[in-house]
Amino acid sequence: MRFIMSLIVLVFVVLAVAYTAVERLSSTQEAAVERARGAFETPMIQLQAALSDHLPDGEADVAQRHMSMMAIDEHVVVLMLVDDIGIIGLSNQSLLEGSPASQVEGYSEAVAADAAATLESRVELSDDGEILRGYFPVNLGAREGALRPDRIGILYSDYSVSADLARARNDAVAAATHLAAFLLLLALAQYLALHFLVTRRVGRLTSAIRSVAGGRFGVTVGMTGSDEIGQLARSIDFMTCQLAEEHAALESSEHLHRLLADNAADWVFWIGPDGTFAYCSPSCEDITGYAAAEFMTDPGLMERIIHPEDADLYHHHRGTEWRAGSSDLRFRIIRRDGSVRWIGHACQAIVDEDGEVRGSRGSNRDITAITEVAEALREANRDLEARVEERTRQLADSNEELVSVNEELSSTIEQLAVLNEELAATNEDLEVATQAAEAASRAKSDFIASMSHELRTPLNSIIGFSDILLRGMAGPLTDEEFTQLTMINTSGHHLLQLINEILDLSKIEVGRMELRVEDFDPIVVVREAVDTVSAEATQKGLALVIDSTSCPASMRSDRLRLEQVLINLLGNAVKFTDSGGVSVSVSCKGPLVTFVVADTGRGIPGDELEKIFGEFYQVEIPAEVKTAGTGLGLPLSQRLAYMMGGHITVKSELGVGSTFIVRLPLTLVADPEGDLRAEG
Ligand code: ADP
Repeated sequence: MRFIMSLIVLVFVVLAVAYTAVERLSSTQEAAVERARGAFETPMIQLQAALSDHLPDGEADVAQRHMSMMAIDEHVVVLMLVDDIGIIGLSNQSLLEGSPASQVEGYSEAVAADAAATLESRVELSDDGEILRGYFPVNLGAREGALRPDRIGILYSDYSVSADLARARNDAVAAATHLAAFLLLLALAQYLALHFLVTRRVGRLTSAIRSVAGGRFGVTVGMTGSDEIGQLARSIDFMTCQLAEEHAALESSEHLHRLLADNAADWVFWIGPDGTFAYCSPSCEDITGYAAAEFMTDPGLMERIIHPEDADLYHHHRGTEWRAGSSDLRFRIIRRDGSVRWIGHACQAIVDEDGEVRGSRGSNRDITAITEVAEALREANRDLEARVEERTRQLADSNEELVSVNEELSSTIEQLAVLNEELAATNEDLEVATQAAEAASRAKSDFIASMSHELRTPLNSIIGFSDILLRGMAGPLTDEEFTQLTMINTSGHHLLQLINEILDLSKIEVGRMELRVEDFDPIVVVREAVDTVSAEATQKGLALVIDSTSCPASMRSDRLRLEQVLINLLGNAVKFTDSGGVSVSVSCKGPLVTFVVADTGRGIPGDELEKIFGEFYQVEIPAEVKTAGTGLGLPLSQRLAYMMGGHITVKSELGVGSTFIVRLPLTLVADPEGDLRAEG
């Protein structure tokens, strides 16, 4: 391109120079000829005048002098005076004198005759343009003896303009040379300006655009300038910058998509305009057993692995359906290992801006497991439907039976209603009987309470008097009397205990037992209870141990009732232990105080641990080891523990010993209604 431009400029310069030279040459030559014509005509006219003045007067010598002066001019080639009959009279070439003028080369008799006839000078340029031929009529004066007074001759001259023309040519060549040099310089300057201001910068723009076209989007032209190319460069820089950013975003998006496609469990694919795979994700190998590269290099592979029974369906789809847009399809393929797989196929046509279909993209999923499960479900469903049908039929049969049973039931219900009414009446009777029984129970408890009270007074007298007698305060006793009195005293104590316990139980039953709540030191109560049984323990040789290491300093409860419970438990422990000892501990944990009475006695059978808290219950023991007791101590103790907000539990092992545990609240408080409850 640059070469063509240079050639065009060169041709233009050459043409311009040639045209200028030709123009200049012709105008210069014309001017030279005109100048020569002036230089020729003026002296010739003067010579013509001089000859016309002198020749008629016969002053030929003067005329000859004038001619000689004219002939000196170096331009004058031929100068001659031709008389009226065409004979050369005077000439700068003396040899020509006396000769006919027609012999002189270039002389035209016709022109001469015309000039003579009209008396008007003629100056003509020779055909080669090198010589000016001048015909100037001259009055020769009268010839002797002639009638005509004036004879008109012709002053003829050949005036050479060769030198002028040569000068003019040289001037023209010099001017053309200068012009050519100027034009060449101008062209060079233009070329350089074009090169540095346009060509080179456009080259940089072009290279930048080629880089962008080649995929190198980050390239910048980096050109300054406020002209159009500078603005274009900035626009291209902006454009490449934008393209670089968009390309980077596109690349990262493409990378992400490829990553997704490469790691997808589905077989992701892209089919080009020619119907062959342009991309297959690696998972196609898991599904078909064939690698992605095999699908992309072997266009017929997909067709070959389609199950023969689904071939028509697949071909129909590949032939028409997918072009319509998106489509879904289910078909079978035969894997490389020969197994049959179900494929869920979904694809979408790729359409360009002109609406032309350029391929398709989509995914294939292995739906064999789902399909098999669905088939199994359908089978199960069919089976279920059959069974439901069978069952419905059976139910219809059963229903008929039920209707008849129902009828029977209805009559039974009617009978039951009658019975129910009878039962309600019986119930009412029972209610009345229950109320009567409760009233009787209360009356019994009231009776026992009052009777027990009435019994205690004489009993205390019996015990008191027998004590006095036993101590010998009424006189000495015989052995027999002492024995009898001891039995009376013991039986009295036993009876008093029995009455007291019956009285307490009755009070509790009718709700007349009231607690006296106070603050006290629990270890003091324990010690007092132990003191009560210590004599009997010592008598039996039993150790009595108190553990009070974790004992609280104080507790709030019914001091006397607690002591009664502990005496009862300790009494039993001593009573049912023949060797070893009895221990009692008191400890506190959180809001509870725990008393533990343990012995090394005979123990209680496991199946009777519950029963011993029942009224009048005593464990069966051999007659020879029979001990005194009422069977009311534990039930009474348990109820007292309940009243104090606690309870008693027991653990025992036959032949090893028993442990009774009493748990009571550390602080017993009365609520606004006056009921007692544990604090916290
Ligand atoms: P009793 O007046 O007979 O002791 P209790 O109600 O106090 O009546 O006890 C009921 C029965 O529980 C007793 O007769 C006895 O058989 C059994 N029993 C109670 N404490 C003990 C114990 N520490 N060791 C063995 N047996 C016991």
